[in-house]
Amino acid sequence: MALQGEEKSAQPAALCDNRSERARELAAQGKKIIGYLCGFVPPELITAAGMVPYRITGVMGEPLVEALDYFEPNACNYVLNCFQQAIKGRYDFLDGIVIPHACDTVQRLYGLWKFWKPPAYAHFLNVPTTVSPASIRFFREELEMLKESLESFGGVEITDQRLKEALSLHNENRRLVAELYGMRKEHPPALTGGEMTRLLVAGAGIPADEFHSLLKEMLRSIGGNAGSVDEKKARVLLYGCVMDDAGLVDLIEAGGGSVVLDDTCIGTRSFGTAGDAGDDPMEALCRMYFADFLCPKVVRSCDEERFEYLVQMAREYRVKGVIGYFMAWCDPHKFDQPVLRNYLEKAGLPFLALEDDYTLSSSGAMQNRVQAFLEMLQQKD
Ligand code: SF4
Ligand code: SF4
Repeated sequence: MALQGEEKSAQPAALCDNRSERARELAAQGKKIIGYLCGFVPPELITAAGMVPYRITGVMGEPLVEALDYFEPNACNYVLNCFQQAIKGRYDFLDGIVIPHACDTVQRLYGLWKFWKPPAYAHFLNVPTTVSPASIRFFREELEMLKESLESFGGVEITDQRLKEALSLHNENRRLVAELYGMRKEHPPALTGGEMTRLLVAGAGIPADEFHSLLKEMLRSIGGNAGSVDEKKARVLLYGCVMDDAGLVDLIEAGGGSVVLDDTCIGTRSFGTAGDAGDDPMEALCRMYFADFLCPKVVRSCDEERFEYLVQMAREYRVKGVIGYFMAWCDPHKFDQPVLRNYLEKAGLPFLALEDDYTLSSSGAMQNRVQAFLEMLQQKD
């Protein structure tokens, strides 16, 4: 019998809708909560320091008013939106922030946040833009500095043992997420893209051990049941910028698509690489969060090295086409866009690029384009 949506755990959706509630509770109990942005910051280090990593998100669609006064006019609206939450006091429960050099707007966010809403702890993580033995050494030193600053703020030594335990917990979560992704290889998939997105967004706002229980509960509630998604829906891969809201996934799924896979930074980009801690857990983090981390911010030597993994994943999940979501003014992603389109189309994967300003405000027009694309995919063999 097909599993109906309401039989699955409703907890992730509730947590996602109110994702700061648990962090606020923990903060009131005296736990230190550290906000971080982007996929280059290893939450394992924050967990190992006995603090709670909390992925900072915006509120998609909220009109930008206050934040506009602080940034240049061509700044990424996603970052502006996150900063607006901060200046409105919605992140006052955070004890600290860790912001990496993802792009120039994020770098600017660090300075502005530190100046206008100074938290008790703030750390900036430099991230090189090319991968080489020297840049890997540089990033490792950056991670060592982050480790030392967390130790000093938390008053705790992050021993190799503590770090290995944190890595093992986060890796176990990666394994469970991979199991859930694997269930979407079937047709129809066992859970929708919207359910998966809400689960991951919720998980990035709670301690790793609580996320572990949430993942277990989701797997238990699905059991061995087949999915209830309409079989006629076209299977798509969603690629692109940060996706901390399920709005676009819902729009695609309401329009006749089934998002069975993503390459976004709260999805596979952050959960794709597990690292065996081995004898050197810092080395494992360096590999996972830089050397092997595939994000357009880091320039790689050839198109194959940058995009072939996408084609392989698309084949594994029997995807018919790729929808790209690009934030207006996002240089790292938009410079890649034409090359990516060529690469995917040569591999037989049609590509639809959508541009947005973190509002989905043109959702009517977007829906029409998405629908036309999905109809084309449905007619594809
Ligand atoms: S796309 Fe890359 S640089 Fe941008 S937020 Fe995600 S991980 Fe960071
Ligand atoms: S979407 Fe692009 S411009 Fe915006 S924060 Fe991410 S990398 Fe920077």
